[in-house]
Amino acid sequence: MAGRFAPSPTGPLHIGSLVTAIASYLEARKRQTSWFLRIDDLDSPRSAIGATDQILRDLDAHGLHWDGSIQYQSSQLEAYQLAISKLEEAGLIFYCGCSRKDTRGHNYYPGTCRDNKIFRIGYAIRIQTNNVNIEFSDGIRGPCKHSLESLGGDFILRRRDGLISYHLATAIDDGNSKIDHVIRGSDLLNETSKQRYLMELLNLTPPEYAHIPIIADRHGVKLSKRSGAKPVNAVDAVNNWLTASRFLGLSPPLEAHKWGLQEVIHWAKENWKLNSVPKESSLIMDN
Ligand code: GLU
Repeated sequence: MAGRFAPSPTGPLHIGSLVTAIASYLEARKRQTSWFLRIDDLDSPRSAIGATDQILRDLDAHGLHWDGSIQYQSSQLEAYQLAISKLEEAGLIFYCGCSRKDTRGHNYYPGTCRDNKIFRIGYAIRIQTNNVNIEFSDGIRGPCKHSLESLGGDFILRRRDGLISYHLATAIDDGNSKIDHVIRGSDLLNETSKQRYLMELLNLTPPEYAHIPIIADRHGVKLSKRSGAKPVNAVDAVNNWLTASRFLGLSPPLEAHKWGLQEVIHWAKENWKLNSVPKESSLIMDN
């Protein structure tokens, strides 16, 4: 059983992604399970050259040492294809030629291609969601319930250009790696229901989830490379840990900025509690 951190290599770590890495690391250490590192590198056009190496160096410089070997989603394509074949055998997928324009204006996928069970080049693959409701208890936000229709209905497993969707890849990887707890940003809360749906259909055991607040800039926009977030500087590892700890509801003592990195990590491990994490969906980083 294990936890994981799964960055997309779209750029270097910023304080928002570091907070997620630290929260998932601390929870795995508290549970005395492994903490795996997975690089979500399927979307190669969005991947930045050198970003993976930079992420690995920054994690290492912050004392965030992962267990076992790194998993790359780009090397799991066979597993995703196998899952699609299983869902196809169960009659749950269909081939969809709708463009964005065709589905615009609908609250959820209108079912246009639902009867199209024959593969055609240039068609996306969608899964039928059949008005299913998904319920789970989030470790921070409590009981959650979503109807898949309210999340857009029949969703895409493989895009028209052949790219495997985030939902399918994540469901398969979390299931196959026996991940039993996932800590990630609250911007992914709605995606959880889609992933759980797929895992149930594929007989994979869904993990427990806890969604931490995302870190946003003062305009409420999630920190990201696109929003111009500054990369973390490994030289400031101690301060970065302290900043992240405060976001996560911990209260490091005043003298902590004089500590060494190992001392800060030790303190954070001793004091980590999932139920101290704020329940807000976002927190503002004022810099
Ligand atoms: N790769 C995703 C991201 O960087 C996170 C995936 C996940 O934790 O499920 O936003």
